Amino acid sequence: MWTIQFSVRLQNDEDPDDVFEIDVTEYMDEWPGLERWEGDVRDLGFRAMREMFVGGFLLRERALLRTWTHLDGDCRLVRRGRIPVTLTSTVGKVRVARQRLFCKRCKEWITPLNEELGLHQTGNGRATRGFREMLCLCGSKQPYRQAQHMLGMITQEPKVTSMKQVHLTVGREGSRLRTAEDEKYATVSSQLVKDVQDRNPLSEPIEGVLYIVVDGIWVRSYPGGGRWREGKVARICTEEREAVGRKGRQRVVDSRYVSSFKPVDVFSERVWVDAMRMGYGSRKQTIVLGDGARWIPSMRRRYFPKGVYVLDWFHLRRKVAQTFRRVFPEKSRRRVSWYLEIRSDLWEGRKEEAVDKLQQLHDEISAKACMKNPIAAQGRDALADLLGYLDNNWEGVIDYGRWRDAGHMVASSLVEKAGDLVVAKRQKKRQGMHWGRDGSEAVSALRTLWLNDDWEEYWKPSQRAA
Ligand SMILES: [Zn+2]
Repeated sequence: MWTIQFSVRLQNDEDPDDVFEIDVTEYMDEWPGLERWEGDVRDLGFRAMREMFVGGFLLRERALLRTWTHLDGDCRLVRRGRIPVTLTSTVGKVRVARQRLFCKRCKEWITPLNEELGLHQTGNGRATRGFREMLCLCGSKQPYRQAQHMLGMITQEPKVTSMKQVHLTVGREGSRLRTAEDEKYATVSSQLVKDVQDRNPLSEPIEGVLYIVVDGIWVRSYPGGGRWREGKVARICTEEREAVGRKGRQRVVDSRYVSSFKPVDVFSERVWVDAMRMGYGSRKQTIVLGDGARWIPSMRRRYFPKGVYVLDWFHLRRKVAQTFRRVFPEKSRRRVSWYLEIRSDLWEGRKEEAVDKLQQLHDEISAKACMKNPIAAQGRDALADLLGYLDNNWEGVIDYGRWRDAGHMVASSLVEKAGDLVVAKRQKKRQGMHWGRDGSEAVSALRTLWLNDDWEEYWKPSQRAA
């Protein structure tokens, strides 16, 4: 037999009699083997930590009770039992039995420890800040069931939280984060406007390009139904890159993510604020690189009049390829030659010619579609769709070849990656998943916080005066 004993002593040095002693004892077979031993150590350690956690509150309560007064000297306080409260923390669930007081004069109940336990703040669900942070970290990256399991393992208490609790807490913390951001953005925004007005004369423009990479992602919003809602994601970055690894891969050095499921204006305003902070307006050139979502060109015109819109080449090329697959369902030489011709027209800046050719093909096929020809009808619709896409993104269809030779980024995996990082992994790609608007917004808020390296700053414990 082994006896393992854990002793912790909490002592208030101002009053040496004010001591809280904790003993956790466990007996076990001599050597249980590596795996069991690891589990036993965690079990015992966490039990001791929970006791210590509670002990601190009780020691604090004693100090409070020594000097506690209700309203004034005429109040007559008497102790009237203890009431337990369960707090969910990073060391598991703990039960704190709080001393309750009754004022005989005022006929009022008082629980001095409530303030220390954070029970006066609403919306925390009796979970500590540390636990809520941990929950959000787990819950914004994987399915709620998996997050719930992780939290159980981390806290050495499998039922520390439920899947539903994870869901609710992520939603609540995400919208709390958005509210905090809204305030910050509003302040920064008005400051920026003021700075721009005061800057006279304009300073010398900074060399280099500022990229604003924008992506729209559709997320299913109800189970089974055909309802979708669009998440919008932007990544703002400069040209600076640093090498990673040995294969010549490059990483963006300086970047900010912005995400939102709210209307375009709310999103655009945020993108504008972060772009300003990263030098929009003082940079020589700004390129808005987009995936062709219908709101991007007008967002560029309204918020970034000094910027240039570029329709991402990968997206354009893919759209052209998809169109011809629908126009010529059979794999054929005709399909390939049409694709190659339109692709090179677009790459080399002959967009008017490309549109003329597409329009002709569209009219030709439309004539056949009149005679109840489903393949022709499908081809006609696909071509009309491509023509609409080109029309909506017209200013963004540039002379790609020339732009690339001039050293500009005309296509970027950043476009799609930004979206994937913020929403898709959780929301888009999980088939059958559906999200309420608040859920999507909350998860993308937390994901963006993480990607922008603002996580620790946001979650750091609040400072209190010593
Ligand atoms: Zn009183």
